[in-house]
Amino acid sequence: MLLVNKITALHEKLKSFNSSDTIGFVPTMGALHEGHLSLVKQAISETDVVVVSIFVNPTQFNDPKDLERYPRTLETDLKMLEKTGCHIVFAPVAAEIYPNPDTRVFTFGNLENVMEGKHRPGHFNGVAQVVSKLFEIVKPHKAYFGLKDFQQLAIIKNMVAQFNFAVEIVSCPIVREETGLAMSSRNELLTVEERKNASIISHTLFKSRELTEDKSVNELKRWITETINKNPYLTVEYVEIVDDIQLQPIKSWDEKTVKVCCVAVFCGKVRLIDNIVFN
Ligand code: AMP
Repeated sequence: MLLVNKITALHEKLKSFNSSDTIGFVPTMGALHEGHLSLVKQAISETDVVVVSIFVNPTQFNDPKDLERYPRTLETDLKMLEKTGCHIVFAPVAAEIYPNPDTRVFTFGNLENVMEGKHRPGHFNGVAQVVSKLFEIVKPHKAYFGLKDFQQLAIIKNMVAQFNFAVEIVSCPIVREETGLAMSSRNELLTVEERKNASIISHTLFKSRELTEDKSVNELKRWITETINKNPYLTVEYVEIVDDIQLQPIKSWDEKTVKVCCVAVFCGKVRLIDNIVFN
């Protein structure tokens, strides 16, 4: 496994592989866990050369304190990646990705007006800025993203379609801790007590799946909100039940779409997201 910080070094290394080799790419912000590694393992099983990027992208943080607090654990990340058999780790500094401020403005229509788009203004523009740059730099055949960030995946697919990127986007299932808590780099910022209580989020989502016969969409959203908020460690930011394509809130269970329940919840100062597919 080779660690590179510069785009030129990355290109140099990529040139040393066969030109017919397929490139698999896993963009991350580091502080890796089994969720990230599942993406890397899938990339290794499906492509010839696997590139993992580790870059805490400043343009996608709408809260400077969140950026400051974000965990950075490069040494342990590298040890974990080494074991997976990944070929190249690309860990640039910000000036390598943004030699000039990125002033591009992306539009995603209705997709960006709900949930994370609504509560984190500018977040998806930053995600699109960095992922589009990384796609240009790495030129992957396949890129792997987790369903944990359900809306991000929809945004990336939309961006690929808008700009005709020659990359196949592969969606990977959510990996959870034994308690059910969706794995996240931000879990490292929780105290032991907070982490224990945070599992209420996924338990509530799992249970909610069994209640769709008894409750209307709005009643179920209210039940999820109240159940999570009852826990003194947790405060719901939003609960939405949306269709899986346009991510617009559904009004009735009769709508003929796959339905996904997405939540954002504060556990102390740490903002956690999770989701579950209903059918
Ligand atoms: P991040 O480092 O948080 O930007 O995440 C990098 C990639 O890993 C994104 O595609 C995430 O959706 C994915 N990811 C993060 N957590 C999980 C998880 N628990 N299960 C599956 N994929 C995940």
